Amino acid sequence: MSGDLFLYGVLHLPWWGDVAAAFALTHVTIVAVTLFLHRCQAHRALELHPAASHFFRLWLWLTTGMKTREWVAVHRKHHARVETAEDPHSPQVVGIHRVLWGGVFLYRREAARAETLARYGEGTPDDWLERHVYSRFFYLGLVLMGLADLVLSDMAANTTGHRKTDQLRIVGLVEIAAAFAAEVLKPGGAFLSKVFQSGADAELLAQLKRDFAVVKHVKPAASRQDSAERYVLATGFRGAAKDGL
Ligand SMILES: [Zn+2]
Repeated sequence: MSGDLFLYGVLHLPWWGDVAAAFALTHVTIVAVTLFLHRCQAHRALELHPAASHFFRLWLWLTTGMKTREWVAVHRKHHARVETAEDPHSPQVVGIHRVLWGGVFLYRREAARAETLARYGEGTPDDWLERHVYSRFFYLGLVLMGLADLVLSDMAANTTGHRKTDQLRIVGLVEIAAAFAAEVLKPGGAFLSKVFQSGADAELLAQLKRDFAVVKHVKPAASRQDSAERYVLATGFRGAAKDGL
């Protein structure tokens, strides 16, 4: 699975402003993961200025709630044990579907193992802020950031080339993202998700129309005209949808 699921508290912007802000913020998160978590922290292939390091750490806390030590330990173990039974997320061992669809659960399970963190997590930040704020209240950044005005999903399943299968997979991901949005959005919030060419399916659209005032398909200017990328944008979250069930 590529991409991620994020939530943001953004300014009150017109829909295209939300989309532009979402893309900009997502991009910073992607840079934080590749440069800071992956190259700098996990592989020590890159030295970052302490201020830059700290900015990325703060940013990841605010936008993802990920703990540096956990991400680094799971990733290093993946390299050390690649494609064996001990690889935390090996498509060879647990099957491509579990890695694609259950990647988050495989990650959580591995990150919960103290021995993995002890063995593969060394050298990661362990200062006061890490112990007392970032790791201890790892969800608080999301809460601060996310008096959630917008949930953005850029999750994409790897395509098989079989149209029907690909479409089902995409719809499955959008449904997960939409359910997440319904949990965390505040009333009036927006949801944006990648859906590709065929758009969201009828059942999903009906669900979104129950939860949101306006639902439409959009293709941002940043997306190549010839690509199959399309987004479903739902604005005006009605809130408290859960109570209606
Ligand atoms: Zn790596």
